[in-house]
Amino acid sequence: MSARVLDGRAIAAEVLSVVSERVSVLRGRGIAPQLCFVTIGHSAPAQMYAKRLEKQAARAGIVVTRRELAEDVSLLELDRIVAALNDWPEVDGILVQMPLPEHLTAADLAVIVHPRKDVDGITTENAGRLYLGLPGPVPSTALAMMQIVRHADIPLDGRHAVIVGRSNVVGHPVAELLVECDATVTITHRRTRDLAAMTRQADLLIVGAGSPHLITAEMIQPGVAIIDAGINATPEGTVGDVDFAGCAPIASAITPVPGGVGPVTNIVLLRNVVDSAERRLA
Ligand code: NAD
Repeated sequence: MSARVLDGRAIAAEVLSVVSERVSVLRGRGIAPQLCFVTIGHSAPAQMYAKRLEKQAARAGIVVTRRELAEDVSLLELDRIVAALNDWPEVDGILVQMPLPEHLTAADLAVIVHPRKDVDGITTENAGRLYLGLPGPVPSTALAMMQIVRHADIPLDGRHAVIVGRSNVVGHPVAELLVECDATVTITHRRTRDLAAMTRQADLLIVGAGSPHLITAEMIQPGVAIIDAGINATPEGTVGDVDFAGCAPIASAITPVPGGVGPVTNIVLLRNVVDSAERRLA
């Protein structure tokens, strides 16, 4: 057996075309969807990410503006800047660059971004909505993983989904979304005693650990579908958390890195901006 390779770039292109059509309708009604990307400090990966996002947004007709803040910006100052963006009617979405410098936490951000402009599902209100099964913006990586699962028609009802990683942007939200789809969900993490014993039970394996090639061929069962969010810079280039070459011959479906979850993540984030702009119009 050799796995179907789930092409994130092709899925992203499909989503982009639907998003672009929705943007055309909005523009026709005098609304230009706008995302404000707030960067803190001068990190090269954040600058690269911003450029990529701007390019993709431009293709969809979405405006991306940038606020560049100093590395040592205080929480009070960040709060003041985000509050101004919260009040600015033309801004539909606010995205603050992660990871944050050490003196700021995700919990700080969770209460200063207005939930209506929270296009990455980071606020307490939107996390609560997800937990309660109510509509609202969901963290884009989790959303991207679900988009790929749906696109590939991977069955979920009653299936065992094992998640590696329990972060608030990947593991936790994707677990909520999978439970909503009637999967049986196990969340594993760094302190899990026998990771392989868990991953071997997976019909669907969702990985977001930030550890290159953590999941190897011996840790999976034949026919598993694998979605890998990991992005790890190594001397051999960017690799995922899954040993793709070892696992692909055993799995039924697998995302590559690069070219899997990453490209879909940006476009579903932009779709969240369009959702917000449509609410502005309404
Ligand atoms: P994080 O550090 O916040 O969380 C990592 C999680 O993985 C933790 O819960 C930790 O317990 C678990 N973990 C780490 N090592 C483990 C191990 N050996 N065994 C079991 N569990 C382990 O990271 P994050 O922000 O959730 O990101 C995770 C990965 O996903 C990173 O590679 C990151 O670059 C990538 N990521 C990708 C996208 C995308 O769009 N594709 C978006 C966000 C994050």
